[in-house]
Amino acid sequence: MTGHDMRGIGMTSARTRDRLIVTLREQGISDEAVLERIREVPRHVFVDEALASRAYENTVLPIGHGQTISQPYIVALMTQALIEGRELPLPKVLEIGTGCGYQTAVLAGFARHIFGVERINALIRLSRERLKALKISNVSLRHADGFDGWISQAPFQGILVAAAPEAIPKALLGQLDDGGRLLIPVGPSGQQELIRITRRGDEFVEETLTAVSFVPLIEGQTQ
Ligand code: SAH
Repeated sequence: MTGHDMRGIGMTSARTRDRLIVTLREQGISDEAVLERIREVPRHVFVDEALASRAYENTVLPIGHGQTISQPYIVALMTQALIEGRELPLPKVLEIGTGCGYQTAVLAGFARHIFGVERINALIRLSRERLKALKISNVSLRHADGFDGWISQAPFQGILVAAAPEAIPKALLGQLDDGGRLLIPVGPSGQQELIRITRRGDEFVEETLTAVSFVPLIEGQTQ
């Protein structure tokens, strides 16, 4: 974390963050608590120092290992779609594809506990450091294949997947609590849609929210 400015001055100033919030509003994010959380969580802490000046642009940025930090709009949209109309905090939320930990940090404001799964071990180590530095302690991270979910902690009131499989993994549906929601991008590159599934007993109600572009959900794990 050395060298990272945690206070948010200069290029990571309040004004820069305010501009991002204006953009998100224009794009249709209306949940005030989500907007406030995005304003609060210092995104520059989650990217390389060389990219810190771009951290509050509404864009995807590289985080190494061929992966990217999600666009703030997508993080806001998925968080909003997850919590809309629900009693907060959600007890347990499962996040698949923790990456650099940014989405995890945003979600941590809306759940009692976040369980994050990431297939690249180096990213898990980085995320742990960053979350600790921000004193976000209601998160457990695991180096594993997200296709399997996190069976010992199920059921979850929310599951959020940050990489796209070609079809919805059955294990994740099985780990959803009654009334719980799964947010997941599905489809091959160039044709993905963000899907929201709500469990009602044995029924799974599916809504298509919007076209999206995520990295693929890849089976297995790596260092
Ligand atoms: N949530 C991140 C975005 C991460 S990009 C953010 O806030 O910016 C998607 C992540 O999913 C990558 O880090 C990738 O390594 C991870 N991923 C891909 N397939 C996976 C799998 N099967 N299990 C767990 N993580 C996976």
